[in-house]
Amino acid sequence: MADSKKPESHTVPRRPMHHRRNFTGLTTKELDAEKAKWPKETVQLWEQLSKKEANDLHTIQKSIVHHVTTTLARAAYNMDNFSAYQAVALSTRDRLISRWNETQGQLSKADPKRVYYLSLEFLLGRSMDNALLNMGLKGVYSQGVEQLGFNMEDVIESEVDAALGNGGLGRLAACYMDSLATLDYPAWGYGLRYNYGIFQQRIVDGYQTEYPDYWLNFDNPWELPRLDISIPIGFGGHVQTTQDEYGVTRHNWIPANSVQAIAYDVPIPGYGTENCNNIRLWRSKPTRVFDLTSFNEGNYEKSVEDATQAEKITSVLYPNDNTMAGKELRLKQQYFWTAASLYDIMRRFKKSMREWSDFPDQVAIQLNDTHPTLAIVELQRLLVDEEMLSWDDAWDIVTRTFAFTNHTVLPEAMEKWSVPMFEYLLPRHLQIIFDINLFFLQKVEKKFPNDRGLLNRMSIIEEAQPQQIRMAHLAVVGSHKVNGVAALHSDLIKKTIFHDFVDYYGEEKFVNKTNGITPRRWLHQANPQLSALITETLGNDRWLKELSQLRGLDKKVENAEFRKKWTAIKRLNKVRLAELIKTRCDVEVSPDALFDIQVKRIHEYKRQFMNILYVIHRYRTIKSMTAAQKASVQPRVVVFGGKAAPGYYIAKLVIKLINSVAAVVNQDPAVGDLLKVVFVPDYNVSVAEIIVPASDISQHISTAGTEASGTSNMKFVLNGGLIIGTMDGANIEILEEIGEDNIFIFGCLADEVEDLRHAQRYRNVPMDPALQGVISAIERGTFDDPKIYQPLISTLTVGKDFYLISADFASYIAANQQVDAAYKDQEEWAKKSIRCTANMGKFSSDRAVKEYADQIWNIKPISVVDEGYLQA
Ligand SMILES: *Cc1c(COP(=O)(O)O)cnc(C)c1O
Repeated sequence: MADSKKPESHTVPRRPMHHRRNFTGLTTKELDAEKAKWPKETVQLWEQLSKKEANDLHTIQKSIVHHVTTTLARAAYNMDNFSAYQAVALSTRDRLISRWNETQGQLSKADPKRVYYLSLEFLLGRSMDNALLNMGLKGVYSQGVEQLGFNMEDVIESEVDAALGNGGLGRLAACYMDSLATLDYPAWGYGLRYNYGIFQQRIVDGYQTEYPDYWLNFDNPWELPRLDISIPIGFGGHVQTTQDEYGVTRHNWIPANSVQAIAYDVPIPGYGTENCNNIRLWRSKPTRVFDLTSFNEGNYEKSVEDATQAEKITSVLYPNDNTMAGKELRLKQQYFWTAASLYDIMRRFKKSMREWSDFPDQVAIQLNDTHPTLAIVELQRLLVDEEMLSWDDAWDIVTRTFAFTNHTVLPEAMEKWSVPMFEYLLPRHLQIIFDINLFFLQKVEKKFPNDRGLLNRMSIIEEAQPQQIRMAHLAVVGSHKVNGVAALHSDLIKKTIFHDFVDYYGEEKFVNKTNGITPRRWLHQANPQLSALITETLGNDRWLKELSQLRGLDKKVENAEFRKKWTAIKRLNKVRLAELIKTRCDVEVSPDALFDIQVKRIHEYKRQFMNILYVIHRYRTIKSMTAAQKASVQPRVVVFGGKAAPGYYIAKLVIKLINSVAAVVNQDPAVGDLLKVVFVPDYNVSVAEIIVPASDISQHISTAGTEASGTSNMKFVLNGGLIIGTMDGANIEILEEIGEDNIFIFGCLADEVEDLRHAQRYRNVPMDPALQGVISAIERGTFDDPKIYQPLISTLTVGKDFYLISADFASYIAANQQVDAAYKDQEEWAKKSIRCTANMGKFSSDRAVKEYADQIWNIKPISVVDEGYLQA
């Protein structure tokens, strides 16, 4: 354990700030001084020429052709859609960079408090369409591109997704960056630039197979490499303990090796504003100095091997959603990323020549899940070991800077690091964690004396073999606010994983920030026709920045003409999805059937298994019908999509079962168009943009208390799709907003789960009879070799049905029957659909981000002044 004596503040030497400035980078004052050295005419010339290019049709077409002939070095008529995309992307990029420069230049001058959003995942998807729409240039670019002989949609579809995320958490970060830019908040994201994003999923023989995501193969126009920003990051080594000239114990970490962090900036333009924010992604590179050491010792192979190890850090995104991998490389990623980001943040702060005590008034850092929790330890280390602050002064700064978002209560998702592995990689950080823990537990002991059990439960260190570091506890202790992501979830974390912490800190530290989605991407961009109808109906497009304006659509519910237009757009979107299904799955589906969709990561708690079991039940029911009975069956197309973590065996069996059921059902002449089942491979953001606008009903059916919020539920309802769901996550708040007549709710409640599980475990509750029939059909070999599914079926029997599929099955069947009945009345259904969209204002990420800004970050918007365009 570390030396637990805190340095006393009065004994600590406080060097004046300018002596501590060992960073490069000019302050605005210094920049002005540089400018003064140039001749007046030269300054004028630069100022004139560095203005933005104009946005008229001719200038834009010229810039596209310029990029074709020079940047791409291609002949004008020797081009495919992809090279057209590259040229349009480069032209768009020029405009993005101009805005980025303008924004960042003005921000440096104003030097307001900023928020830094630390997220190991940013699931951005495609950039071009979104950038053009946000900058208000989609129309002129489309016209320019069409005149040059290309179809804008084909050009847009040539872009590959930036898929640097697993699912909801990464997409949330992307939506929040859009809202922060749109609302003019001074905000930067920090993440990692993985060479390989989430794997590509292909279905072979019904099974998921994973392929590497070569997203950088064709260059990435949406980033600005900052090869000059290179930050050394240390690993391993030992800690030197010395007495300084004042007799204070000092700790100095001497890392055994180091790598470089190189910055890549991804501009994020706001909608309807000049403001353009930044996501800075770090890439790992070998440290040259370190290479040379081995090289000079004549060990060429070792130096190359070390270089490869360094590059490996940002090589691949871990493909787990809501499960903890515990791999050493993942811990390296987390430290590499948080250390580089903090160095960068502190460098920017130092330019302002303020005192360290002002740091929390200039900097807010939001931790997206526990992944960046090491930033807490790193800031404490830098302030104490390098900036020579006292422990208490430093800790006060740290806790006023950080806030933490919890995303899950699932035990398998809780991040823990084994102490021996951690010590080997980060010896000084381990000492600091032990000290943080010691001082924290001393205070707990003072408040609640003589409660060993309590200290054990709250400790940052879990006493196991070997000891484990509980990252969630560290994140709570090092932050001033902790939030859940939907009302139910924020309540649950206070009652379960953070219960003791609420007793200790009080209620005020634990708040709710219900997730949101950006209406720009998820309605305006993904559903352009519905967006146009809404704007026409409301008389303006203010709803795009103020989503509660959608309430104005409520007035149109009784207007039959309006409903007809509304339904016609839904049908066109279903046709578009039917085409995608034909191309990707080779299955013909009728756009007149009810489209029933479940797309999200495959996980037992999300219960895709229950969905496919019900599909089998429905299939068996239809098979048992007479022709006359069949005539009244509501035709359905059941669409699944989503990736399973490559090591998640049970989730992968669910995919196999879905595909086997699809193979049987889709070929069965006794069923025909009454039931179709498809699994759309490689679900990602751009596939979601086609699927979301095309749903009649979507499924959000997690076991109550397991889905923290969900965000795809919001996307579907915003697009006029109804949902069938459990009382879980944000479904509950969606119900409150849109009304219980416009949502199909079933299943047990979160506070019933414990008793139900207990009953199933100890009282041998019989399986639901309909479910039993379905299981028997699988076991008879109706859908491929039944041996394949034995482990999956065992989760219901041997595993005592932990996710309560049997308990919820009867009410799930009933809810599905209500869906069929309601869909029969198309006029009533259209009314429900309109009411859904009209009442989704709350779920804009603009609302969410404003709440964070006002109640957690204490930051204000600052608008960018348009500095004008280059004169022709
Ligand atoms: C929105 C989104 C998610 C999150 O879906 P949930 O149903 O909320 O889990 C996952 N993946 C992609 C590609 C998304 O766009």
